[in-house]
Amino acid sequence: MPHVVIIGCGFGGLAAARELAGADVRITMIDRSNHHLFQPLLYQVATAGLSAPAISAPIRNILSGQRNVTTLMADVTSIDVNGKSVSLEDGTRIDYDYLIVAAGSTHSYFGRDEWAGLAPGLKTLEDAFDIRRRILMAFEYAERETDERRRQEWLTFTVIGGGATGVEMAGTLVEIARHTLRGEFRNIDPHSARVVLIEGSDRILGAYPPDLSEKAREQLQKLGVDVRTGSRVVHIDEQCVRYANFGGEQTLASRTVIWSAGVAASPLGKSLGVELDRAGRVPVSPELNIAGRDDVYVIGDLAAAQSDGKPVPGVSPAAKQMGRVAARNIQNRIANRPLQAFKYQDYGSLATIGRKAAIAMVGKFKFSGFPAWLFWLFVHVYFLIGFRNRVMVMSDWAWAYLTFKRSARVISSTMHGKQETPHKPSVE
Ligand SMILES: Cc1cc2nc3c(=O)[nH]c(=O)nc-3n(C[C@H](O)[C@H](O)[C@H](O)COP(=O)(O)OP(=O)(O)OC[C@H]3O[C@@H](n4cnc5c(N)ncnc54)[C@H](O)[C@@H]3O)c2cc1C
Repeated sequence: MPHVVIIGCGFGGLAAARELAGADVRITMIDRSNHHLFQPLLYQVATAGLSAPAISAPIRNILSGQRNVTTLMADVTSIDVNGKSVSLEDGTRIDYDYLIVAAGSTHSYFGRDEWAGLAPGLKTLEDAFDIRRRILMAFEYAERETDERRRQEWLTFTVIGGGATGVEMAGTLVEIARHTLRGEFRNIDPHSARVVLIEGSDRILGAYPPDLSEKAREQLQKLGVDVRTGSRVVHIDEQCVRYANFGGEQTLASRTVIWSAGVAASPLGKSLGVELDRAGRVPVSPELNIAGRDDVYVIGDLAAAQSDGKPVPGVSPAAKQMGRVAARNIQNRIANRPLQAFKYQDYGSLATIGRKAAIAMVGKFKFSGFPAWLFWLFVHVYFLIGFRNRVMVMSDWAWAYLTFKRSARVISSTMHGKQETPHKPSVE
């Protein structure tokens, strides 16, 4: 039987494997982590609202009923398209007849990689644990701090990047400070914490129409977030963030910084031997294969795909749809049938801002506030993998909604990065 290797069991890779369920192929699914992750709710783990198992599920378990799949937990380090094989981190080579590369994306610091340790981004569960620890530790340090200025630095949280993740993080941080932690500290008032959202362009949620962007800004400000658009970050260190805007360079004393400003495609694309686009994505044909090779398909965030002459956005529905088309095209190729061109079906966009606050765009309909938030909630629970996860998330959310409490407030690892030196002098 033809051997199909799938690299990455995210949204795209999993959809491809499922589409091949009844096919006469042998599938090897390779992922460096042991779980499929529902990234749209990752910010809830980072802000202690949900625990990790609520938004993730073991890949081996998800695919256990599909007899034609073997799951390997391994890091793919390179791809040899001429030799038709992939190499793993221990040097093992795995040959394939057909390859689907669905390795997704990672953070981009626009050439300032030294900021990674100071301002973590949110992509994996490890990132979420790191951010959660930093947020909770900041309040702990503030409680211990006797110097008022340093205390304020601990109580100032900066989120860089006003896309969907930045907006969600900022809105939820305010909720933690104003509601969740109320009455738990003796030396500080968590309510006095400042949350600043810095965005380089002139509006947040730039992928949405300007009126919805404006609605989102209003809702965020109403929650208590300090939104600074048209501000480009030029420096980050352990005590502060500096940004430039029309008023010149500004310094914000802040010891907890979260990065949600840039995304770059997985570096695995480099080993495919084709020219990448500026974001490191792999250009693909309408049928989703790479130039000159109809045995290698690239899907999801790693693919620079077009549909109706427009670039396909890096979102989970697009990755799933591409996964299905790539899987069908492999079957078409095996059966000598013509290949299917990919057409992206846009079912709408949703962004949550905080408790009872969101914006939504479904076809021609645009709405915001509580109805959009309810819709967002329904959609996210519906698309979670596994019945157990849906029940867990619904019960955790119902509890959080009624009590304002967040149930996953565990601080587990030791300090590092921006918080390594809690008592360094303040910025002048
Ligand atoms: C915080 C956050 C929030 C988001 N919110 C939304 C949202 O609300 N709505 C929405 O539609 N989209 C959202 N997205 C985007 C969405 O998650 C992505 O578009 C989608 O995950 C892309 O799917 P993919 O299959 O290409 O990659 P992924 O789902 O990222 O999967 C890639 C997989 O490949 C594995 N992998 C990577 N490199 C290797 C390697 N070298 N070897 C082995 N395995 C490897 C990874 O472990 C991972 O499992 C969000 C993304 C993030 C980070």
